Amino acid sequence: MEIGFERHDPCRERVLFVLTLDRKKMKERIVSGIEYEVRSRLRGEQSADVLVDVTRPLGTFLAEFEHDPDGEWNRFGLAPLREALHSNRWKQPDLEKAAGDFLRKKFDSGDPLRMYVAYRIWDEYLRAREKRDRPAACDWFMDRAAHFTMAFLQRSPLQFDSDTGRPQPFSITSRVFGSVPSDDTRLDLWFPDNKRRTESVSAYNSLYPLITYYLNRLNDWGLCFRKCKVCGRIFLAKSQRYELCGDKCRKKQALQNKREFDERARENNYDLLYKNECQNWRNKINKAKKTAGFPADRLEEMLTAFEAFKKEALQRKKTVKERTANPKEFTDWLYQQSDIILRLSDY
Ligand SMILES: [Zn+2]
Repeated sequence: MEIGFERHDPCRERVLFVLTLDRKKMKERIVSGIEYEVRSRLRGEQSADVLVDVTRPLGTFLAEFEHDPDGEWNRFGLAPLREALHSNRWKQPDLEKAAGDFLRKKFDSGDPLRMYVAYRIWDEYLRAREKRDRPAACDWFMDRAAHFTMAFLQRSPLQFDSDTGRPQPFSITSRVFGSVPSDDTRLDLWFPDNKRRTESVSAYNSLYPLITYYLNRLNDWGLCFRKCKVCGRIFLAKSQRYELCGDKCRKKQALQNKREFDERARENNYDLLYKNECQNWRNKINKAKKTAGFPADRLEEMLTAFEAFKKEALQRKKTVKERTANPKEFTDWLYQQSDIILRLSDY
């Protein structure tokens, strides 16, 4: 396929966006290109000339659907081309270059939806240029291209119940002004592989029926959307139990769990040593209290030293917890304190 955001012959055939959902493998596949080539790619022919062919985790198309709240696609992608259709031929190259640069960047992102729409906008422009009646050509161009960029302006098609993870059905009525055009509700269903087991849907004029189809299928299959505990990505899962999006995050979480466990073990260790040391002091003080003729001023001194010891120990323990001191420093200091009470109780 000729892909280039400069002047060339437009594609004479319909370039389709074809989606295949694999429930078993929990994958989505998107192949885009002219019908004949897409069909042959889906039958397994790698030499088929397509625009894009990607397989990703199920739900990615919805979760990563292009969102353009500031209308950049319209301002930088469509507006210069619309102007070019009304301008004289000396002004056209700069306008085409501005739009071409923007669309090229979107295309190079590698996201199949962005690639498809960037390609389609450019191709519709090339086709519009061939028409004689400029105002009509411009209307024709905007009518086709703006349909895509409008979908990007609106809120994400992926809305789900945060408690159950169930996707909400897609409402076209709230997105299309007036009565819904048939193009927004119609989808081509294909069975392209040789055994006719794979079910694919193909979109051309509108992305909306594709979204409706996708969300309906997910609901039929009882799948739910989850937000990954580690990376925050939205992913699809077979039940609410799943909290991590994949092996990478599972490994990260396991490492984090181990670190926390070690940390707790270390904490317990110096905490335990401190408690033991306190008990040691208490034992010595109690013994002194029970000893007949133990000097009262010495006992007083022991009690004062014990309070001082506890006060400092708690302060030091805090710095270990806050990581401004290491546990070894603290335990070393603890051992030295033993001497103080030992000396005082030695009567
Ligand atoms: Zn993750």
